[in-house]
Amino acid sequence: MPMNVQPIPGVSERINQIRLLTAEVVNKEILPHENLLWAARRPGAPEATRKRAREIRDAIKAKVKQTGLWAPHLPEEYGGCGLSFLEHAYMNEVLAYTLGGAALFGVVAPNSGNQKILARFGTPEQIRNWLVPLTEGKLESGFSMTEPDTAGSDPRSLRTTARREGNEWVINGLKWFTSNGRRADFFIVMCRTEDPSGPADRNGKMTQIIVPRDTPGVNILRNIEVWGQESDHCEISYENVRVPLGNQLGAAGSGHHAAQERLGAGRVYHCMNSVGQMWRAFDLMVQRATERDVHGGKLETKQFVQGFIADSYIDIQAARLMTIHCAERMDAGLDARTDISAIKIFVPDAYHRVVDRAIQVWGAAGVSGDLPLAAMYQGARTLRLADGPDEVHKILIAKNVLHRHHAGESWDFGN
Ligand SMILES: Cc1cc2nc3c(=O)[nH]c(=O)nc-3n(C[C@H](O)[C@H](O)[C@H](O)COP(=O)(O)OP(=O)(O)OC[C@H]3O[C@@H](n4cnc5c(N)ncnc54)[C@H](O)[C@@H]3O)c2cc1C
Repeated sequence: MPMNVQPIPGVSERINQIRLLTAEVVNKEILPHENLLWAARRPGAPEATRKRAREIRDAIKAKVKQTGLWAPHLPEEYGGCGLSFLEHAYMNEVLAYTLGGAALFGVVAPNSGNQKILARFGTPEQIRNWLVPLTEGKLESGFSMTEPDTAGSDPRSLRTTARREGNEWVINGLKWFTSNGRRADFFIVMCRTEDPSGPADRNGKMTQIIVPRDTPGVNILRNIEVWGQESDHCEISYENVRVPLGNQLGAAGSGHHAAQERLGAGRVYHCMNSVGQMWRAFDLMVQRATERDVHGGKLETKQFVQGFIADSYIDIQAARLMTIHCAERMDAGLDARTDISAIKIFVPDAYHRVVDRAIQVWGAAGVSGDLPLAAMYQGARTLRLADGPDEVHKILIAKNVLHRHHAGESWDFGN
């Protein structure tokens, strides 16, 4: 069933145009081929299926470029379609309706986050050497921050060091869950660039450094199995890795700030993606409820299932409106830190609940590879710990509320 996207009253004409154009690509170009595109990804898929999928993917990408929707996260000067923050956020809820659709629009994590960081902080030379080939698809990249031996949810505790020696940075440390690890031609590595034994309570110690994959001392130790499946999230040791000082990205000590900036807007985009995926799960659930006969009637006549539909409707509306509210505050340049934390907790959890109900309604088919629900379920669960786990964001919300209270103000939910 196609995604039902109509103009939204009150938003800009451009946002409506982008949503409608995106829906046209999703409904006409992607959804009819979705099964084949998924089948081609399975281990052991026949070469003929993979070849056909490549042709279809190329044709979809050509259509996306022709429609002017390619790489919504990048400015036009770097080959993107130069959308504003809000336009991009609204586009995501539509393109995410089809799982994996973002890649067909030129948004492929972790390259997309690295592209944004390079566009924002890169020197002209870094832009020429890394950003341009990355956007042209000639290079792949990874973002190497999380470590097995320190808490990723407290990134200031990380132990990987970068020591200055002459004209070079010398990097030592162990990272894991570096996505795209095997395919990457370079990594952006988060390093501690001050005294490693000092207190970890200051933000100004972290620096991001570009490390080409083939630099001596970069050792990919293993691909970590995720949800019981082979993945490209890698464990990597950096042993006396030497790169020129010019590979430092942004000012020394700006790494934490840059990562927060990457994550802040990224969380809104991820949440709008989750809304699009919930929307799809919801449509699938309703469709099945109207078609499946059980115990003398369609599922839709059973009150348990009606409850699933109503609860999911409420979850999606709440998640979507919270995310749009947060995006609007960010777009207006207002302090949205509390809202970002709130959506980062609420939306993945709501997504998890909606997909869980959709799976229940579909029965065994819900956990099969015939539907996108099982992959969505794993994605939703993972989102609750990646990019800052729930607990860390709850602490931040409480801190902001209490800070205001102690300053003599109660919280103003109208602003
Ligand atoms: C599929 C996947 C892809 C990833 N890709 C990348 C990548 O490309 N690059 C990269 O650098 N990282 C990546 N990560 C890592 C991810 O960012 C981290 O897993 C995340 O930041 C959490 O860090 P951690 O795993 O070290 O958990 P920890 O920091 O050890 O936290 C574990 C748990 O402790 C609890 N907790 C934490 N703080 C508190 C507190 N103050 N109070 C109470 N409870 C608390 C939370 O429940 C949390 O889930 C990826 C992870 C996954 C699963």
